[in-house]
Amino acid sequence: MKAGTADAARTLKVEDLSVHYGGVCAVRSIGFTVEPGESVGIIGANGAGKTSTLKALMGLVPRSGGRIRLGDRDLTRVRARDMVRHGIGYVPEGRHVFPGLPAEKNLLLGAYSKPWDKETQRQLDEVYALFPVLAEMRDRLAGALSGGQQQMLSIGRALMSRPRLLVLDEPSMGLSPILVGSILDVLLKLREEGLSLLLVEQNAKLTFGATSHCLVMENGEVAMTGSSADLRHDSRVREVYLGL
Ligand code: ATP
Repeated sequence: MKAGTADAARTLKVEDLSVHYGGVCAVRSIGFTVEPGESVGIIGANGAGKTSTLKALMGLVPRSGGRIRLGDRDLTRVRARDMVRHGIGYVPEGRHVFPGLPAEKNLLLGAYSKPWDKETQRQLDEVYALFPVLAEMRDRLAGALSGGQQQMLSIGRALMSRPRLLVLDEPSMGLSPILVGSILDVLLKLREEGLSLLLVEQNAKLTFGATSHCLVMENGEVAMTGSSADLRHDSRVREVYLGL
């Protein structure tokens, strides 16, 4: 899978990001960067603010403060539906496939910002190479696919726009350990091919296996940061944030 145009200046930089729901502060002035080709995880207990951070990055919930840059572009005021045009693919929590449409139609919706051309066909072929089961199921309604297949469809759809950065919210949710292993293999392959990843996850195997660096969130703030290799063995991280 080819990541988008290979420009060196595609670092994601999030500064001072805050989210409030009414009077409640869910994310408090957090900042982080994802370097080109880097894979960063966000972990934390339930309610720590992980999903709100991703949604605020994507413009899906209002931000009460913050700046977002990708390379030399300021994306702070870019609307959610236009983020994909700027190279950010999003795999939402809970998949959100279109159940009444065939699997292939779901994938093609991910390429909506580009006219059908050879490149779309090539990208479709690459998604099918990454997830062969989707090629077999291409005419099946998405609602009739298993949970794991729907998760693959959701990731495949995001890849259709040829993102530079793929943002994933809990891709392991509801999946068996074997399927979590398959998702991990796919994320590692995407990493190898140079795609940047930002991953929110509760599953320790997937988080630490797929990322090089993690932020640990607590009460809307970044409580710790470190290499995934170090955090994997940190007893406090394992007990408090991952419930292991
Ligand atoms: P989880 O792992 O359970 O998804 P999380 O770390 O992703 O948790 P968020 O879902 O971002 O956390 O929630 C952060 C805080 O914001 C929580 O206290 C949550 O109850 C609150 N919250 C989230 N969404 C809303 C909303 N739409 N309206 C009001 N409060 C919300």
